[in-house]
Amino acid sequence: MKQREKLYEGKAKIIYATDDPNLVIQYFKDDATAFDGIKKGTIVDKGVINNHVSTKIFQYLEDKGVKTHFVELLSDREMLVKNLEIIPVEVVFRNVAAGSLCKRLGIEEGKHLDPCIQEFFYKSDPLHDPMINESHIKTFEWATEAEVVTLKSEGAKVNQLLMEFFKARGIRLVDFKLEFGRNQGDVLLGDEISPDGCRLWDWETGEKMDKDRFRFSLGSVEEKYQEVYNLVCGEGK
Ligand code: C5P
Repeated sequence: MKQREKLYEGKAKIIYATDDPNLVIQYFKDDATAFDGIKKGTIVDKGVINNHVSTKIFQYLEDKGVKTHFVELLSDREMLVKNLEIIPVEVVFRNVAAGSLCKRLGIEEGKHLDPCIQEFFYKSDPLHDPMINESHIKTFEWATEAEVVTLKSEGAKVNQLLMEFFKARGIRLVDFKLEFGRNQGDVLLGDEISPDGCRLWDWETGEKMDKDRFRFSLGSVEEKYQEVYNLVCGEGK
């Protein structure tokens, strides 16, 4: 698969064209940002870890019948994926209270959320990804009603599957963000699934094993990403 021109560069990834218009290469960087890009840094080998962790999780989800953009792992930092027309809606699931939920509603961090909470955010850097609801999505035609049904049902299925996946590895899935896109008439799960976009806590100790360590300067950032890698992908790279 020949790598062609750069199509897009985001905060953590670069998308390159290939000779096949239906396929693109997703390149994972070590760059880390938080708080709308106010905090910037590097997490050494994050790109390698997130690429491998996402690969393992996309393969698991595909095996369980979830349609994703994943095609194959190309190298330590490159994943071949289907070219998506991204739906500009972030779908967040929360099983335990943390992050913006606690700030917004004054809920204590760590409270178990049963049933889980599902939220939508509008994907827009200049607007700082504001929270939205289904009626905004419908009126502004960010997704069709049928697509919204898919985002909710596939999202809920992914939440169940990921909770089981992480629990089996001694990790509590606190919350996470999903992105979806259109490809040849299908709605596919896109982006990545990694400690950058999921809150992951040690099941026993509650220790944070995700990007919150970078956001809040908790230390041992690389070590915890590596631990997640080891638990998800098995020892050694
Ligand atoms: O910040 P907040 O608590 O709303 O984040 C919920 C979840 O979504 C967290 O796991 C966070 O890492 C993820 N998220 C993300 N990208 C964003 C917003 C949230 O990966 N732009």
